[in-house]
Amino acid sequence: MSKMQPINLRSFKQKAKNTKNSMRRFLTKIAKEAPRGLDKKIAVLEKEVWQETDCLTCANCCKTMTPTFTNADMKRIAKHLKMSLVDFQTKWLKQERSGDRDWVNKTEPCQFLNLKDNKCSIYEVRPADCAGFPHLSKKFKDYDHVHKQNVDLCPATYKLVEKMMSRVNGE
Ligand code: SF4
Ligand code: SF4
Repeated sequence: MSKMQPINLRSFKQKAKNTKNSMRRFLTKIAKEAPRGLDKKIAVLEKEVWQETDCLTCANCCKTMTPTFTNADMKRIAKHLKMSLVDFQTKWLKQERSGDRDWVNKTEPCQFLNLKDNKCSIYEVRPADCAGFPHLSKKFKDYDHVHKQNVDLCPATYKLVEKMMSRVNGE
């Protein structure tokens, strides 16, 4: 039987508001004293997370955050849309003013999200950042700060941290 439950974003946000601080403290602690085999344990939990999470009932990432577009992403997507690179950038993107001056969306929700069915209209050529999101299978020590940011934005991240708190903590 499928354990997949539709995501109710309103109740998720309420729940996450109450628990995000303790989850972030937990992530800080685990990052400092990483138990042996942490990434292997997380991989097991991540598999469960995806068996239980239906992103098509959520799309909160595409609704509230922007991906970072690499040069390869922009070229590939512009070509797919039969636009020049400059036209594509001008129409949809802006360059951040600080840091690495990343290319990001001008507005949210993402212009490529179909709000009727939560599907990405450029799925096959979507940015690598989107394809990897929420980065649960990356090395924990390189992504703990990302998970901290995402615990109250991404139900899959929340679920992973919840599982970590009951099954990785204190071992
Ligand atoms: S990756 Fe996270 S925020 Fe995005 S749709 Fe899936 S559960 Fe929702
Ligand atoms: S490009 Fe597609 S997957 Fe990425 S944020 Fe936009 S709608 Fe979501």
